[in-house]
Amino acid sequence: MNQSVTLSKRAKICMPGGVNSPVRSFNSVDCDPLFFARGEGAYLFDVDGKRYIDYVGSWGPLILGHAHPKVLEAFKTVANNGLSFGACTEIEVTMAEFLCQHIPSLQQVRMVNSGTEATMTAIRLARGKTGRNKFIKFDGGYHGHSDALLVKGGSGQLTMGQPSSAGVPAHVTEDTLVATYNDLSSVAALFEEYPHDIAAIIVEGVAGNMNCIPPTADFLPGLRALCDKHQAIFIMDEVMSGFRMSPGTAQQRYNVIPDLTTLGKIIGGGMPVGALGGKTELMQQLAPTGPVYQAGTLSGNPVAMAAGLTTLQCIFEEEDFYENLEECTSYLLSNMQEIADKHQVPFTYNQAGSMFGMFFSDEDEITHFEQVKNANQDLFKAFYKGMLKEGVYFAPSAFEAGFISNQHNQEILDKTLEAFDTVLQEVGSRL
Ligand SMILES: *Cc1c(COP(=O)(O)O)cnc(C)c1O
Repeated sequence: MNQSVTLSKRAKICMPGGVNSPVRSFNSVDCDPLFFARGEGAYLFDVDGKRYIDYVGSWGPLILGHAHPKVLEAFKTVANNGLSFGACTEIEVTMAEFLCQHIPSLQQVRMVNSGTEATMTAIRLARGKTGRNKFIKFDGGYHGHSDALLVKGGSGQLTMGQPSSAGVPAHVTEDTLVATYNDLSSVAALFEEYPHDIAAIIVEGVAGNMNCIPPTADFLPGLRALCDKHQAIFIMDEVMSGFRMSPGTAQQRYNVIPDLTTLGKIIGGGMPVGALGGKTELMQQLAPTGPVYQAGTLSGNPVAMAAGLTTLQCIFEEEDFYENLEECTSYLLSNMQEIADKHQVPFTYNQAGSMFGMFFSDEDEITHFEQVKNANQDLFKAFYKGMLKEGVYFAPSAFEAGFISNQHNQEILDKTLEAFDTVLQEVGSRL
């Protein structure tokens, strides 16, 4: 028996499902979960010493790959002075200045410890500012696991077969309105129904928790216009898309200015970090300057700030960082498409910078969540198991996005394509 299986047995006794986050159970691909011992650049090594090319990157944060020397060095230097003070430090100011400098819609930020906290606070702030209770989210949009946002949440929630969650009282979600992603008319209809009750719209910069679906050209600007018309707060949840596809995040790429932005993942560089930000006037509604309460014992933690800030600095130091990443991603995906076509396996993909989605589907273009749900799950499972065997690690679910780091070089991408060819040859021959 291999070490992952042994550990999984131990874990299942002392941890619910043997995991600390549901998707790690590998339930939706019918495999045993992998336990990892080490990461280096684009590679992960499991507890049995097997090496994998990693396209998960800890679900997005590791845009510089695993164990980046500069990030580790900054981390160690700061850690030597103590792990936490629960008081003000210079590095949290530097982080806030950095974020405000690079994201046009930010004048002030509040650091928190996870994406979940960031979006939960953003909703509270929007409600506090507008005095309204209802807000709109999208079917398949995931914004962490706070109660009011646990409605039709995509990814982990989908693959677990729970469209929502037990333990959330109905009255907590009765103000959560759900619209269809990339369908402005579904949003306009909700504003027509509740013209004076909607505090906010919350939307992912690029949908990345129903696999990967970029916004259609008119979608984000259309949401912006609807918010303006009805005096609602426009929240872009950039926990995943933030610094993933362009230096000013998705709002810059798609040319739209939100009122509130939530961040996480990359800005923590692998440490537990989240943030929300917007115009000063709005952000000052938060305690201690305003009436909307929010706090955190470990918020702005110096070690976490060091890992995140150094990650961001490395990105901005490297010339053509985002162009290169995007090119590598296009190279990988367009060649996968050719291989799939060659083996006559139904396949299509989406890409937003270095974030991507693969679909075993006959459709030419995937723009809606319904299409993702209708893709071929059996083909995905066969693909998944085959790739894992070949030493390539993708997210163990057909409802998650993939990510490339700046450590995924030509050789690694070509190795991935070779593995894909081998696996699809086998999968294709069984169709
Ligand atoms: C990951 C994610 C979150 C939740 O962040 P956690 O740090 O896991 O709490 C929220 N929104 C989006 C868009 C995410 O991708």
